[in-house]
Amino acid sequence: MSIKMGTGDLAKYPFLNEAGEYLRQSGFGWDELDRPDTKDIIERAAERVRIAAAGNVYEKLDRYETEILTFIVTLIMVKSIGLEPVLRKYALAEARRAEKFLTDDLKKQSDAQKRALFSKIFEDLFGLKIDVTEDGRLFKVKVTDYLMRSSHFHEQEWKMINRLVQGGQVFLDADETVRLVRNELSVLITSRVRAMNLPTLPQSIKQKVEELRTELAPRYEYRTYAVTDYPPCVKHALEVMARGENLPHSARLMLATYMLAIGKPIDEIVEMFKNAPDFNERITRYQVEHLAGSKGSRTKYSVPSCEKLRTENLCFATAECNGIINPVQFGRKKRK
Ligand code: SF4
Repeated sequence: MSIKMGTGDLAKYPFLNEAGEYLRQSGFGWDELDRPDTKDIIERAAERVRIAAAGNVYEKLDRYETEILTFIVTLIMVKSIGLEPVLRKYALAEARRAEKFLTDDLKKQSDAQKRALFSKIFEDLFGLKIDVTEDGRLFKVKVTDYLMRSSHFHEQEWKMINRLVQGGQVFLDADETVRLVRNELSVLITSRVRAMNLPTLPQSIKQKVEELRTELAPRYEYRTYAVTDYPPCVKHALEVMARGENLPHSARLMLATYMLAIGKPIDEIVEMFKNAPDFNERITRYQVEHLAGSKGSRTKYSVPSCEKLRTENLCFATAECNGIINPVQFGRKKRK
């Protein structure tokens, strides 16, 4: 079936190559963004960046062409702002936005054209071939593709033994199919921004980028300082998280209790776990609040000692750790 993308599809999935092609065909040029009638696009793009930086998802989809352009402008803004935490939050927020649309659209089983479109999206972007069952209710992926992506999921339902498998294919519903590529969506958007060559920016974007940088940078300045100052065990856990890899339960406990001990707000701690392959915001928030003593047993958990972390293979001591018995002591002498 030949697949025709409408502007509505491109507004929902603006990271597809077809969106760039659409803009080229429409003869769009960057200078146009200095015209007063395109002010709305710059404002929407800035709003989209701000919403992402606050850990939320931009939901507008009322004007398709505007949203395609808005997405491209946000990529440029995020690249120009040049703050790594903003890029990560933005990529995650865009992935969550696309994930919502993908799930909704995959559920429209009666629409064969839509199903063909999604097969194309999954194959083009993630190299994941999905087939649809005859009745259109379920999706099928190859066992090897399934295992490669689901091996980090902890929930029982992802274990092969609990799946319906036939003819070398695993059967999934719409939510599960999208869940399989959640991490890849965020990685895809991050790498798009990293690989971008910035055009000469119109004055309107330059001004907005300055405004956003001034607004967002203070939020992350302390973080930059703190990251270099975290003890090696914590740094290691954050690096594993940043790669979207699975962190053992004991390391998650160490990371959360350490962040609580240094006074990091619960929202920010929850945010740190967002890259985890099995991330569930509600459960993570409950667990962090539980460790903080504000839920469940009301006992505040302390940071495990260096000795305990050593026995759990979570210690990555450097010379700077010399003499400390708990990660919270790390760097204290240095700061005096
Ligand atoms: S010595 Fe303590 S602070 Fe240093 S890496 Fe090991 S566990 Fe962390």
